[in-house]
This record gives sequence, structure tokens and C-alpha cells, in this order.
Amino acid sequence: MALREIVLVPEPVLRRKANKVTTFDKSFQQLVDDMIETMRAAPGVGLAAPQVGISQRLLVMEFGDEEDEEAPKKLYVFVNPEIVKSSEEKVTGVEACLSVPGMAGEVERYQTLVVKGLNRFGKPVRHKLEGWTARIFQHENDHLDGVLFTDRATKVWQPSEEEIENIRD
Ligand code: ZN
Repeated sequence: MALREIVLVPEPVLRRKANKVTTFDKSFQQLVDDMIETMRAAPGVGLAAPQVGISQRLLVMEFGDEEDEEAPKKLYVFVNPEIVKSSEEKVTGVEACLSVPGMAGEVERYQTLVVKGLNRFGKPVRHKLEGWTARIFQHENDHLDGVLFTDRATKVWQPSEEEIENIRD
């Protein structure tokens, strides 16, 4: 495994619509492992392939329980993800992005989602995501379409050091 370099705005790959993944070979598995390692090292709770300069529809997410800090973290790998259903209810929350350093923004997201896609080996998966999980998914999934949180944010600002610690990317 190896750390990949996280690309920053205004790198054009962050604005491109990423390509569907069609091969699940050894080098793809390497990419998945590298992205997990890069996300953990950042540290971040999600990472999309365009953020490491690869224009493919792949995202990884990992985080613990919102209420229980002791709970084990849950890792998700989504390939060619799609939103199947979204709740009418939306929630506003603060987001940041490893590719947009030093910025935070308030973004409205769906509270609940049903998503489908493939796992890292090409097998179909379907998940119901809620709250923080659903928010991270929407943020990372946007990266696959070249959309950044700052495009959707109603308010964008430069957070203080202290504030940064409280924002989970
Ligand atoms: Zn991001």
C-alpha cells in the first residue's frame, strides 16, 4: 500500500465527470487500498478517486458512530455509486474537503438515502444511509461529477484552527 497525493483546487480532474469503473484487476485493488490508506492518513472520513487524480467512479468512507465514540469505525467502498432514493427531509451541516483546504461551508443534504453500486470486486451492493453517513456519501459522490461542496454551500468561510478540529471532512 502507498499514500497517494491529494490534489487540490483548481486541479482540473476535480471538475471532470469521472468514468465508470469497468475492470476490477490488481491495479484497481491497489488503488482502493491506497485510497483507504490516504484517507486514514489525512485524516479524513471520505475520499473520492478524483481527489487522488484518478478520474474513476470510486469512493471510500470510514467513520465511527455519531453518538458513540467507542464504537468501531465502519468502512465503505463504493464503485459506480448511484442514489436510488432520497428522503424529502434535508438537513444543513458544516462540511470541509481535503481538496479545498482552509474552507468550510454550510451545505444542505438529504437526511436519508438508498444507494446502490458495486463493491471493490464488482459485486452489487445496496445500502440505506442516514444522517452523517448520508452526508459524507453525497459529498464524495458529488466529487465523481466534478461538483465541490463550495458549489452547493449557502455560506462559505475560512474556519479558525479550533473550528477546523471540530469539522469532520
Ligand atoms: Zn471533498
